[in-house]
Amino acid sequence: MRHIAIIGSGPAGCYLADHLLRLAPDAHIDVLERLPVPFGLVRYGVAPDHQGTKAVVRVLDRVLGRERVGFFGNLEIGRDVRLDELRSLYDAVVLATGAPRDRRLGIPGEDLPGVVGSGAFVGWYNGHPDHAPPPLRSVRSAVVVGNGNVAIDVARILAKSPAEMAGSDLAPQVLELLAAQPIETIHVVGRRGPAEAKFTQHELAELGALARARPRVADPSAIAGDTPIVEVLRGFAADTREAPVTIVFHFGLVPAAFLGSDGLEGVRFARADGSAQEIAAQLAVTCIGYQSVACCSAAPVAGVFPNRDGRIDEGLYVTGWAKRGPSGTIPTNRTEAQQVAQKIAAEALDHGRPGGEGLAALLAARGVRRVDHASWRRIDAAEQAGAAGDRCRRKFDTVAAMLEAIDLPR
Ligand code: NAP
Repeated sequence: MRHIAIIGSGPAGCYLADHLLRLAPDAHIDVLERLPVPFGLVRYGVAPDHQGTKAVVRVLDRVLGRERVGFFGNLEIGRDVRLDELRSLYDAVVLATGAPRDRRLGIPGEDLPGVVGSGAFVGWYNGHPDHAPPPLRSVRSAVVVGNGNVAIDVARILAKSPAEMAGSDLAPQVLELLAAQPIETIHVVGRRGPAEAKFTQHELAELGALARARPRVADPSAIAGDTPIVEVLRGFAADTREAPVTIVFHFGLVPAAFLGSDGLEGVRFARADGSAQEIAAQLAVTCIGYQSVACCSAAPVAGVFPNRDGRIDEGLYVTGWAKRGPSGTIPTNRTEAQQVAQKIAAEALDHGRPGGEGLAALLAARGVRRVDHASWRRIDAAEQAGAAGDRCRRKFDTVAAMLEAIDLPR
């Protein structure tokens, strides 16, 4: 029996386990996760009002429940077990650790209160235990930097009325803080033109169908080209409805500085002709991508782990955003995982290593409390049972609360 450990239980890790089940029928696969709960980016990245997209967890959960798969939740590599220990316990170890760190713009004022990276902002509104509430105080104007789908998610969550969150799993305290902001304008700012925007058509068009917000384009004469995105923007520019909240799309503005002394007051941008434009704002969310972080001795270079078709070193592999960078949709991970699984199935040798049994013994000796798949299912059931009103789930937003739900001392 070959033993394979996958570090990370997001879509990349779960899809890899699924492919390995079919391509390596002689392998047992353990999926290791820092939090007591699985699914990474699906649980904490996909927007709370996009439950249709989040429904993929049913597919991923079935993988974790399969006979040749083990789930080790609440296990932090580096704190509870080292990467080199895992490599001596398993025939292959795969990093599916994603890209959890916000990229930085590297411009003045980036550390001012009121300037937040999208990872921290999205993590907060999705109830991630690592992310505290941002300092939102009387936000009338928000600037969202970036022209990708994360920028759209952030703009939409800021723009939606409380009633439009029905059916979501947005936490009451998150909604309360958002609803307390007297928000009037959300500026979505791209450094290039409309034809270069990375939005997808469906996500962009959704902004045209919100209850209390209406999108428009700051300079309609700048809308050039005939891409599907450009067509949606033309539609926004032609829309004359009035609404309490306006989402304004700006193009060709390069972020130059965040302005303010105690907190954010505005953002300065540079135009291609060298002129400057300032936009007043009490909140800025930078949605400009993410980077991977080191896993013990394995370190990323320029945000990703250097690899050859998923192979980092003998017996060490990588998949998902940690391999290719923060791009693509959830199904992209399924396609990529198949290629990495083929490579592992062909290359990994059976060294007679103990795999999960050896890991479980090591963790027991260290007093580490593993959350297995059955325990995760109990946390899941408790979250669904705790949903109030029109919500579909009440997420536990601390590790302590997750462990308490299954009577596991921390
Ligand atoms: P993205 O699509 O790569 O967009 C990042 C944006 O940040 C781009 O507009 C980029 O501009 C801009 N940017 C980067 N560095 C910048 C800088 N220094 N100054 C100003 N702007 C800068 O990334 P994302 O929005 O984080 O999304 C990550 C992935 O998840 C994408 O593949 C996305 O489609 C996917 N996603 C999908 C959904 C969905 O399907 N509903 C939702 C969320 C995310 P340039 O183009 O000029 O580099």
